[in-house]
Amino acid sequence: MTEQWTLPREHWLNFVDGAWVDGQASPVPVSDPGTDQVIATQACASAEDVDLAVQAAKRCHQQGEFRHMVPVERGRLVQRMGQYLLDNLDEIAQVLCLDAGKPYWEAKLEVESAARYFEYYGNQAETMEGRSIPLGGQYYDFTVYEPYGVTAHIIPWNYPLEMTARSVSAALATGNTCVVKTPELDPLSVGYLARAAEHVGLPAGALNILCGYGKEAGAALSAHPDINQLVFTGSVPTGIAIAEAAARNVVPCVLELGGKSAALVFDDANIDALVEDVRWGIFFNAGQVCSAMSRLIVHESVYDQVVTRVADMASRLSVGEGRRFSEFGPNMGAMISRQQRDKAEAMCTLAEEQGARIAAGGQRIEQAGYFLAPTVVAEVTPDMEIARDEVFGPVVAVLKFSTEEEAIALANGTDYGLVGGVYSADVNRAMRVARDLRAGQIFVNEWYAGGVETPFGGYGKSGYGREKGREALLNYVQTKNIGIAIKQ
Ligand code: NAD
Repeated sequence: MTEQWTLPREHWLNFVDGAWVDGQASPVPVSDPGTDQVIATQACASAEDVDLAVQAAKRCHQQGEFRHMVPVERGRLVQRMGQYLLDNLDEIAQVLCLDAGKPYWEAKLEVESAARYFEYYGNQAETMEGRSIPLGGQYYDFTVYEPYGVTAHIIPWNYPLEMTARSVSAALATGNTCVVKTPELDPLSVGYLARAAEHVGLPAGALNILCGYGKEAGAALSAHPDINQLVFTGSVPTGIAIAEAAARNVVPCVLELGGKSAALVFDDANIDALVEDVRWGIFFNAGQVCSAMSRLIVHESVYDQVVTRVADMASRLSVGEGRRFSEFGPNMGAMISRQQRDKAEAMCTLAEEQGARIAAGGQRIEQAGYFLAPTVVAEVTPDMEIARDEVFGPVVAVLKFSTEEEAIALANGTDYGLVGGVYSADVNRAMRVARDLRAGQIFVNEWYAGGVETPFGGYGKSGYGREKGREALLNYVQTKNIGIAIKQ
């Protein structure tokens, strides 16, 4: 039975310069994607509010307490922010169920992953060592890493808390200050990071969190002359606009954009294990994952078997509201908005018109909320839109190949290059394919291996720069070289 949850407050504020504030723009109505009901309002930032937040972050940086803190102490603050999330896990997970439409078990995983970023990067704070450079007996020369200063973080709606945690934890650990623009569709959970900052005693202005619309608050933040570094996760068109704004101010930016990632299934693959991975790979978070397994490229000798098995699995999944009715159900929640659901459904309809076969799902589930049935589209050919363009929903397109070269060409045949996978018992083949796939992360007989420790980012139109792992720390520091002459 559905438990009737209520949110802890009706109107949610922004957090600027250590204080909870309203926005100057009209509040954002926040809906529950599982019921299509407005559940809260969120303060909405104008361009002027964004400026106040950037000035607060700049003051905090210039004042120096945070960037000059002993790294291990700054690292402990960052770690304690993660602990705050874990201490409030149930409440935050409920909020994520309500404003993002996630099942409770998925929401809990998101809170745990967010906390893990703070643990990992808090730990790394004291490992940012430079190097010494031999210039001969008349000099000492060494490098130090310094924070950029004010970092801007523009966040997508698919993992609002986790995506914010991913970049903010690394930026804070390296001594930067942050201004976060939360997604207008599901901003509520990110507010708990501001509560965490208050709880651990982060200096005022070190972390500022505002919600606002992309075209006003997002654009104002990305173009602000006082930001020194920018991180964006979201769609390709917005990424291009943000990179242009960053270029005009000559500030570095990291872009994590979309994907159309493929798993290559050879005739010797373990099909039982594959079907389980497809379940996670494309139906987790209702497929609204940039690294989703959105294409299966299957050898002709096992194609029919794979389509039947995957379609059977998909049609057995339970789909429903995020509000907890059991610790483990439903298997899949709502899509984030009516617009996203309609777009995904229209792509399935077009694929069918172009000659593909809907082996499971393909249509909305008729109930309040934005639900699409878990969908398997078979007989997909490379010329179809569904083979090339991102659906960002619970839809897997299944293509057929006969040779290894053809499989690799199909996998590499989109503009994206985020992740890729190979399923085969032949280690040499798996390594050949891993070498030749054009993507930033490759999984072998697995999907979504690794967590915060593994660097993640795209080739091609999937973006540039890397998040996660040690690599991400380098996004937030610049190298200063210091040479000292030894005089007599
Ligand atoms: P989006 O680009 O519409 O929005 C992302 C963020 O940018 C939001 O906060 C939005 O308000 C803001 N924004 C929109 N227009 C802006 C502008 N002109 N200037 C500045 N900010 C602006 O993307 P979305 O619809 O929220 O997310 C879905 C897309 O993001 C998908 O394509 C998906 O693949 C991609 N995504 C990628 C990753 C990754 O890690 N690579 C993660 C999540 C989502």
